[in-house]
Parts: sequence; C-alpha cells; structure tokens
Amino acid sequence: MGAGAVQVPVADRSLLRDMTETRGLGGDALGAVFPGSTDEVAAVVRWCATAGVPFVPRGGGTGYAGGAMPDAGSLVVALTRMTRVREAAPLAWRMTVEAGLTTRRLHQAAAGEGLWFAPNPGAAEQSQLGGNIATNAGGPRSFRHGTVRSFVTGVELVLPSGEVLIAGGAARKNVETLDLTGLACGSEGTLGVITAAWLRLLPRPEVILPAIAVYPDRGAGVAALEAVMACGCVPTALEFVDDRAFAAAAATYPRHAAAGSFAVIAESAGPAAIARAERDIIVEALTPGAAAVDAPDSPGEQRALESWRDGVSPAVVAVRGGKVSEDFAVPFDRLGEALDMIERIAQESGAEVACWGHAGDGNVHASVLVDRADRAALRRAEAVADAFHAVPRALGGSLTGEHGIGVVKVAAAAELPPVLLAAQRAVVDALDPAGLANPGRKIPPA
Ligand SMILES: Cc1cc2nc3c(=O)[nH]c(=O)nc-3n(C[C@H](O)[C@H](O)[C@H](O)COP(=O)(O)OP(=O)(O)OC[C@H]3O[C@@H](n4cnc5c(N)ncnc54)[C@H](O)[C@@H]3O)c2cc1C
Repeated sequence: MGAGAVQVPVADRSLLRDMTETRGLGGDALGAVFPGSTDEVAAVVRWCATAGVPFVPRGGGTGYAGGAMPDAGSLVVALTRMTRVREAAPLAWRMTVEAGLTTRRLHQAAAGEGLWFAPNPGAAEQSQLGGNIATNAGGPRSFRHGTVRSFVTGVELVLPSGEVLIAGGAARKNVETLDLTGLACGSEGTLGVITAAWLRLLPRPEVILPAIAVYPDRGAGVAALEAVMACGCVPTALEFVDDRAFAAAAATYPRHAAAGSFAVIAESAGPAAIARAERDIIVEALTPGAAAVDAPDSPGEQRALESWRDGVSPAVVAVRGGKVSEDFAVPFDRLGEALDMIERIAQESGAEVACWGHAGDGNVHASVLVDRADRAALRRAEAVADAFHAVPRALGGSLTGEHGIGVVKVAAAAELPPVLLAAQRAVVDALDPAGLANPGRKIPPA
C-alpha cells in the first residue's frame, strides 16, 4: 500500500483512543493501515484472516463506547483516505459515498447537490460516514426522518474473509434478500469494514427554524414535550437540556437564559412557508408553562443556537475535566419517569449528573461529571453510570439509543435474553468464524 499508508508501530497515538478517553480509557495496537480503495481494504482483511490478526475498523474515533479503541495485538484499519463521492444523482436524491468521508463533508457535498443528509451526530468535523453507519448514529435531526439507517439503501462491506459484499444498492426498495444493509447499520465493526454506501437523501431544506423554550422545572418541560407531540406537526428535532447541562453551557448561550431551567428545543425544516407555519404551531404548543419561549428569526441567530446545542457535551466535560456518559433510550411516554429515576440515583450516590438528549426519540444522554485524573472518582462515576442501566431495563427501553455497546457496555449487554444473544452470535459467527472483526465489542462472548 506504500510506506505512508502503514504504521508499525502506531505513530499516531490518537488512533489508540476514542471519546472514552474522557472516562480514562485507552488502547494499544500492533499497527495501523490507511487503505485508499476497497481492494486495499480487502487485501488487508485477507492478510488479517491468514495471519490470525484481529482488525478494528476505525472512523473518526468520536464514539463513546470504545468501539474503535483497539486491543493490543490488533490492526487498526483507518478509512481516512477513502473520501470519494462516487456518484451524485440529485434528481433521484441519491449519492454513493466512500465510508471515510467526514459527516461535515458529507453534509456539504449533499448541500452542493441541493440534497440533505439529515442526521447530525454532534462530532461531524471528525466522525465519518462509516462510523455513522456502524453505530447507526442519530443526533437531533433524526427525530423526523430517522437515524442513519433510514438514509442507507445499500452498503459495500468487506467481510472478515476479505470478500466484498454488496448489500442493497441504488434502488430505494429491495426485498430480494434478508436485510443485510440493515444488519450493517449498528454493527460496530463486528461484520467487517464498510467501505461505501448508497444514500437516500432528502431535498435540501430552504430553512431550518429552531425554537427554544425554558421551563421552571422538569415536570413543566416534560409536559411541553408531550404538548409538541400532540400538536399535529412533526418537528425535525425535539431536544431537551436539563438544568445542570444548561448551567455548564450557560456561558456560551447566545440567547437570554433563564437560570435553573429545563430547556426544550424544537426545529422545523423545509420550504420556508411550510416550516414557518409548523414552527408557529410548535411555539404555541411550547408556550403554556414556559418561563420564556424564543424563536430567533435571523439565520445567524439560528446557527448560533445550533452551535450552542452542539457544544453542550464538551461544555459538560469542561466542568470537571471528564464525564462518564450513558446513552439509553426509553419509549417517549416514559421519558419523565426515566429522568426522575436518574435524579434519584444521582441523589443517592451524591454524584453530579447532567442530562440532555433527543427527547422525541426518548434518547437520554446522562453524564456523571468527574475529574478524569482521579482514578478513584472515575471508578465511583462508572458505578453510578452502571446503575443507570436499570432505567431502560425498567421502562422497556434500550441500553443504548445511538452510541452503541462497544466495549463499555458489553458486560451489561450480556444480560439480554439468551435467545437474543444466541441469535446475534449465530450471525456474527457465520460471517466471522475466526472472530477477527473487532472482537469483544457489541456482542457479549458466549
Ligand atoms: C461531541 C459529540 C457529540 C456526539 N453526538 C452524537 C449524537 O448526537 N448522536 C450520535 O448518534 N452520536 C453522537 N456522538 C457519537 C459519535 O459521533 C457517533 O457515534 C459517530 O457516528 C461515530 O463515528 P466515528 O466515525 O467517529 O466512529 P468511530 O468512533 O471511529 O467508530 C465507532 C464504531 O464504528 C466502527 N466503525 C467505524 N468506521 C467503520 C467502518 N468504515 N466500517 C465498519 N465499522 C466502522 C468502529 O469499529 C466502532 O465500533 C457524539 C460524539 C461526540 C464526541
């Protein structure tokens, strides 16, 4: 592959970490490779199969589950050189894109064609399409149009054998086979390396109009979320930010903040006339019980609010230098109960916990604030975060809404029903009998 495309040992040490660094984790590897084509990925994976070396597909390393954090003895397969847009078909709302393109560049490339890739997971400058697919990422704008899975009609996947599988393709409908495209979405590197995808995009919205409302307490905020769900419009995004998360990011809040508040953010996107009409209806739904409702009108103010929302997670990290984060999802109608349970666990443990997330999807990011240089405090924070697993379990939800199982939740995932575990293992074992594709992630061992 050429000298610049191989690092043995790994020279760029950032390849050994992902966002679990904020909870004090780091990995090791035999080496790293930077293939420039699907053929090169296939050659690398075939070499791994022959040599019995585990491989770790790596995107931008922005995952919170340790999925891209390698174990000693493994080979990192980084997709950074595979960034081509293979095809753009604006009239069909379609693009075919290589997996190493960053999410930001994908948004830009789609916009250049008059198209829209709606999912906007918060680390778009770094995260890559392959990582977005492998975690079935979401973000605020997945509420109306769905997570990344809804945008993928086909994937090119290098199987652990080194064979190249094309599942699905450009057609928007396809039931010729089992849904192998869907299987790849959320596979976290356990089925091989995704090298490209066919994307079903949307027309680029003329405007994206946010509205933010702040409430005196959580109860009023949750009631407002329910009012939006009942208002007859489907917001593009429906988010919440609790009092601690709001306080952490208050210094950069571009509007007029009400202290100690629970915030709800809703967005409407589309042709201007339709989006404005929808936003008015949503604002009406947000108003009862609100201390303030704010719907900025200029594009600059709207972007400022969006950037602020993107910055909530880093702002929470900055409070103490680290956070141990949990990402879970519950049915929307159990969201209030979920937040009450988190509050009780925080109080009982004396931990400082900040919550925000994608309210419409019942997706909560609950973070225990911690000084990551303090090992004992980190272990205590992890115990508190582990206690949060009881919340989705009790409320009929999922241990992870969008960040994945990775390595950090694989022990908790072992508590899934045995039949479900066995079915997953059967799939992975069939495609990866030697267990070389990102082992120890996602699927608990037998
Ligand atoms: C500030 C911040 C905010 C975030 N907000 C959101 C959010 O709102 N919603 C959300 O869903 N996520 C969010 N995330 C998490 C993260 O951005 C997403 O999970 C993202 O999709 C990961 O992409 P990545 O390229 O960085 O993947 P990585 O971290 O590199 O990898 C993640 C997993 O995918 C696998 N993988 C990566 N590339 C491939 C490939 N080509 N083929 C096969 N497997 C692959 C890896 O092996 C690993 O298991 C946020 C992260 C940060 C830091």
